[in-house]
Amino acid sequence: TYLVTGASGQLGRLTVHALLERGITPSDVVATARDTDTVADLAELGVVVRRADYTDPTSLKEAFTGVDRALLVSSSAVGERVAQHANVIEAAKEAGVELLGYTSVTHADTSEMVLAQEHRQTEELLAASGLATVLLRNSWYIENYTGQVATALEHGVVLGAAGEGRVSAATRTDFAAAAAAALVAEDQAGRVYELGGDTAFTLAEYAATLSAESGTEVAYRDLSADELTSSLVGVGLPEPYAALLADSDLGIARGELLTDSGDLARLIGRPTTTPREAIRAALA
Ligand code: NDP
Repeated sequence: TYLVTGASGQLGRLTVHALLERGITPSDVVATARDTDTVADLAELGVVVRRADYTDPTSLKEAFTGVDRALLVSSSAVGERVAQHANVIEAAKEAGVELLGYTSVTHADTSEMVLAQEHRQTEELLAASGLATVLLRNSWYIENYTGQVATALEHGVVLGAAGEGRVSAATRTDFAAAAAAALVAEDQAGRVYELGGDTAFTLAEYAATLSAESGTEVAYRDLSADELTSSLVGVGLPEPYAALLADSDLGIARGELLTDSGDLARLIGRPTTTPREAIRAALA
């Protein structure tokens, strides 16, 4: 039996679908969510849905009963994630899972990005747990950019603070396919995958591709981290979140979301979706 946490979220849900596409029987897949109503679509497919809250050890213990292999999708509660992930790791340990996957971030062991800290601490907890683990160090979701195409086209600009840095962004669908592949494969214990798209790009290159595909001129404007933070606050983002995004752009400038490992394409057994294809899909 395979378990996927955060199945109500975008990556978790796609990972459940990817397991089914690999031929895993729906009744052998457990999808967990804080509110099982949010995964009714998965229950309809025959997937077992169980309630699990990362802050509630009892719910986790019950959800992990009888599970062989599990994927911990990192929590979205930035700042509270280490304690939450510790609860999940404990439940996996009690259940005696044979493999626990974790969605981390590119170069989590060395990255100076603020967002990487909780991932690094979680990786340390995983190492100390004695469990067989597989680390899926995901680069940026390309949807972080393509989700904003309407705004970029409206203003004719992509804002960032990444300078000439390249980012190995890939689609959530590709990252989910990789997580499912690692979960079902043999000999995964101890593996660390640096996952990113085959074609890394600068934000200027992203803007140029968006211009070419849309027929609307879009320029990349490089700002300082403070300017980017203010600008994001100006369009309604909470300050701490805006600052975190700007800090991540500085990480991109340092090459911390860049990888040429080829791990993503290898795990999914096909080339990754290109930035051009992702932009086309967003424009369609
Ligand atoms: P989503 O926001 O779509 O999903 C987050 C999931 O975390 C939801 O299922 C949510 O459940 C769950 N969750 C949050 N708090 C708890 C809790 N206390 N107990 C149980 N579940 C909880 O994010 P994505 O699917 O897009 O991304 C997955 C993760 O990847 C994020 O959570 C984040 O850690 C990371 N991330 C990576 C990015 C990247 O570019 N690589 C960008 C953004 C995030 P519920 O539905 O109950 O809220």
